[in-house]
Amino acid sequence: MKPAPFKYSAPESVSETLALLREYGQDGKLLAGGQSLVPLLNMRLARPSVIVDLNAVRELSYIKEDNGEVIIGAMTRQRDAELSPVIRRKLPLLAEALGYVGHPQIRNRGTIGGSIAHADPSAELPAVAAALGAKMVVRGPKGRRVFEPEKFFLALLTTALGPDELLVEVRFPAHQKMGTAFLEVARRHGDYALAGVAATLSRDGDAIKDCRLAFTGVGPGPVRIAEAEAAVIGNRLTPQVLDEVRKIVTDRLDPDSDVHASVEYRKQVGGVLAARALRLAGERAAGTR
Ligand SMILES: Cc1cc2nc3c(=O)[nH]c(=O)nc-3n(C[C@H](O)[C@H](O)[C@H](O)COP(=O)(O)OP(=O)(O)OC[C@H]3O[C@@H](n4cnc5c(N)ncnc54)[C@H](O)[C@@H]3O)c2cc1C
Repeated sequence: MKPAPFKYSAPESVSETLALLREYGQDGKLLAGGQSLVPLLNMRLARPSVIVDLNAVRELSYIKEDNGEVIIGAMTRQRDAELSPVIRRKLPLLAEALGYVGHPQIRNRGTIGGSIAHADPSAELPAVAAALGAKMVVRGPKGRRVFEPEKFFLALLTTALGPDELLVEVRFPAHQKMGTAFLEVARRHGDYALAGVAATLSRDGDAIKDCRLAFTGVGPGPVRIAEAEAAVIGNRLTPQVLDEVRKIVTDRLDPDSDVHASVEYRKQVGGVLAARALRLAGERAAGTR
């Protein structure tokens, strides 16, 4: 299959990119790693008149640390992030989740910004962003805007990004002192998740001081369940508490069914994964795993 005809431009800087986006508006489409966009073009599900290729915009590829944050430029390849010593040490949850994104060949091209901007409901990175409270930094005609995950991921494949805006970086709080775990179930390794969860927690002695769970594959975007997190905070991770979390998650999740999995399956798997991820995160926080 071949895409519909389009004009092509390859800016070399962020300012040039923003000028092109301003000029083309709804008719333009940014191309990052192309791992989601190119299939959409080939199937003619997307028919932009102009492709604005970000691959020559070198200033968007970086991983840096600043004041307790790890900052990742939008065009950083997923594979580079996965293998980065800084990310493995300071953002182990992201490194772990990246291992589930497609296959190494896809991660060699796919970018951190592309995955976050595309906002696939079964993607791993939006769930990691939601679990860690990452900040999405956007530039466009309204200047620089910074979004929390709750305000950025709006609906299925829909974010707060306007057609003339560029996601420039994602700022993750470093979390090497917390326990974290990412788990998912997919039919084959590398497939999108049928259900998955990113878990983070910090301990105060034996009790859990803080806890976040963000699910993927079970809603239009990353899903958090406040009641399940509250069942953990202030408690020890006993089998009873983990079972309570499993029940709450299974009860509260409201996924769709499709050819890959039924509603009931996704709800049950979500609950089991939440309990397992919390146990693993707890063991990692205690240094026993
Ligand atoms: C076989 C296969 C399996 C895959 N499996 C998985 C999986 O298991 N999990 C998963 O999460 N993904 C999976 N993917 C998708 C892959 O991770 C993509 O890399 C990702 O979804 C999009 O990133 P990209 O850089 O390729 O973006 P592109 O495909 O180039 O762009 C995607 C969208 O984001 C927009 N965009 C890109 N960059 C920016 C930016 N900086 N600012 C604003 N908008 C931007 C584009 O305009 C486009 O609408 C798979 C892909 C394939 C082909």
